[in-house]
Amino acid sequence: EGGLDGEVFVRWLRLAADEVERAADRLTELDSAIGDADHGGNMRRGFQAVREGLAEDGPRSPGAVLTTAGRTLVSTVGGASGPLYGTLLRRAGKALGDAERVPGAELARALRAGVDAVAQLGGAAPGDKTMLDALVPAVDALEKSGGTDFGAARTAAEEGAAATEPLRARKGRASYLGERSIGHRDPGATSSALLIAALDRAVYG
Ligand code: ADP
Ligand code: MG
Ligand code: MG
Repeated sequence: EGGLDGEVFVRWLRLAADEVERAADRLTELDSAIGDADHGGNMRRGFQAVREGLAEDGPRSPGAVLTTAGRTLVSTVGGASGPLYGTLLRRAGKALGDAERVPGAELARALRAGVDAVAQLGGAAPGDKTMLDALVPAVDALEKSGGTDFGAARTAAEEGAAATEPLRARKGRASYLGERSIGHRDPGATSSALLIAALDRAVYG
């Protein structure tokens, strides 16, 4: 009773792997417009490895599940998104510590710490046309609801990802295109929205 257990986090990452698998071609298509056409492949490889890692061990704490997955992403994804998503999950996992159950408000705080670490590592802020344009509004919405409204976080992430289309990229490969990055949705913001949608499904599933 009281909070999310390790199974919820295992479910989250499995659903995330499913979503990534389903959307991989679309993510690569987005990355071919303003990047190097590997985002779908990067994410598929990383989350496939995360899925395999989850199958290996028995039940673990929420923090341990996230930390292990983050480490796996860092070591299996070659692109910028690997270290960034790896940092998100490792930092959030560290914030959760070894508690067996995590209240939603604490998860919101942990995700905030993760997102802050991503911003620091990438030197990016919302509006730069990156994954942060989906992640930051999602964490804002979750925090605002006291860690209860995962559907609001999902909607905020999806809206944030869609809103990257008219932006000019200021970080990552897309920034090399300058003005020509305008008019395309950011691949990383799109995959971030998938990850938050998977979290919503995992919590209520
Ligand atoms: P790469 O650009 O190395 O090929 P991916 O294609 O896997 O890596 O990921 C690209 C995504 O990573 C971008 O769409 C963007 O959302 C995100 N990204 C790139 N650089 C940064 C950064 N400095 N800060 C935050 N996110 C970034
Ligand atoms: Mg790429
Ligand atoms: Mg690349």
